[in-house]
Amino acid sequence: MKLEEFRADTRAWLADNCPPGARGPGQVSNGSTKIKITDPDTRLWLERMIEKGWTVPNWPTTYGGGGLSTAEYVVLLQEMKAIGARPALSSFGTSMIGPTLLEYGTEEQKLRHLPRIARAEVEWCQGYSEPGSGSDLASLQTRAELDGDHYVINGSKIWTSGAHNADWMFILVRTDRDAPKHDGISFMLLSMDQPGVTVKPIKLLSGESPFNETFFDNALAARDDLVGELNKGWTVGKRLLQHERSGMESLVSGSTSGEDSGLIDLAREHLGEENGKLAEASTRDEILCYQMDMEALHLTQRRVVAESQDGATPGPATSIFKVVSTELQQKHLDLKTRVEGSHGFGIDPHAFSDLELDTMRQFFFSRAASIYSGSNEIQRNIIAKRVLGLPD
Ligand SMILES: Cc1cc2nc3c(=O)[nH]c(=O)nc-3n(C[C@H](O)[C@H](O)[C@H](O)COP(=O)(O)OP(=O)(O)OC[C@H]3O[C@@H](n4cnc5c(N)ncnc54)[C@H](O)[C@@H]3O)c2cc1C
Repeated sequence: MKLEEFRADTRAWLADNCPPGARGPGQVSNGSTKIKITDPDTRLWLERMIEKGWTVPNWPTTYGGGGLSTAEYVVLLQEMKAIGARPALSSFGTSMIGPTLLEYGTEEQKLRHLPRIARAEVEWCQGYSEPGSGSDLASLQTRAELDGDHYVINGSKIWTSGAHNADWMFILVRTDRDAPKHDGISFMLLSMDQPGVTVKPIKLLSGESPFNETFFDNALAARDDLVGELNKGWTVGKRLLQHERSGMESLVSGSTSGEDSGLIDLAREHLGEENGKLAEASTRDEILCYQMDMEALHLTQRRVVAESQDGATPGPATSIFKVVSTELQQKHLDLKTRVEGSHGFGIDPHAFSDLELDTMRQFFFSRAASIYSGSNEIQRNIIAKRVLGLPD
């Protein structure tokens, strides 16, 4: 089908099938069996998108995907954006373990795990970091030993986002303690709902507990859930991080571009205008610089999407996207809170609007963006060594 025909069909399908309550801000399923979808429109939207294969539009239809080409995927996102449709599903399954299994999983593993992700029947969490093994991830100590048909896992992980709601975990474990550190690691999948797994929430200053400590006390992973070869898990784990840092999902949505951050309107409202321009020249300058940098990022994302024939996530260059996009995210929220002046740091829910309170929350959370998924210092090391080829 020609792309313009696909666009017309997609637009018509979305108009008929995306209910009003699935447009604009609201709940997005992450597939967890432990989180209820309360809004009926959100549930209907999810059901319709699952049936169409568009919860994972570019996965093969065999695994519950929509079988779309990258170009069609971009069109779908553009048309969704035009009507303010929320994604029906956004999960660690769709953005991290799914694409990794597509590359490294056996056929049996793909058939067992991918359709469940596509149908929003499971949410995953990431068992990588340990106390003492964050940036130096390869020093991890949680170990797994084969016993019959299972690997027996002992040790602990930390900062496990969403572990309290996750059904399954992908985990990096040490399977050879004598080998050099990168060569004794394996990548496995295990159910979170078993007696050997204990999840302990970490309380934050905000009062929330989005992440956890996770303890393994003779926890079991089926032998069939070893992904890739034994002791070759570092390669699989690194590839998953590339999907996480800049998977096709975020590259493709970046390539839909034309995003208006709303900064100009906000600045007009708070700082006023002079001769049709923002009153404060220095803020005007900063907003323009931010917008140009954002456009440069989008253009680069568009180029990468256009160059990737088979829709594959790029390799170490994903670190560039991670650094630039997280720094711009922080810059955006920094500007937003400054432009809002005394309303930029709202605490009292009676004295500030929901939007102002949300800006403050986003400002604080954006600080984490240059830490999670490997800190930006580590990304710069990867760019220096693996992209620019500089010596160690
Ligand atoms: C919001 C959030 C969610 C997270 N979710 C998960 C999750 O779901 N699963 C999971 O496994 N982990 C998760 N993490 C953990 C995250 O991956 C680690 O925090 C991160 O890798 C950094 O490790 P660390 O915290 O141990 O810091 P450290 O490694 O102790 O680093 C401390 C500081 O030293 C710097 N540094 C360290 N080594 C170098 C070096 N070689 N060169 C230059 N600078 C260096 C770092 O950049 C950092 O500034 C999450 C973290 C956050 C903030």
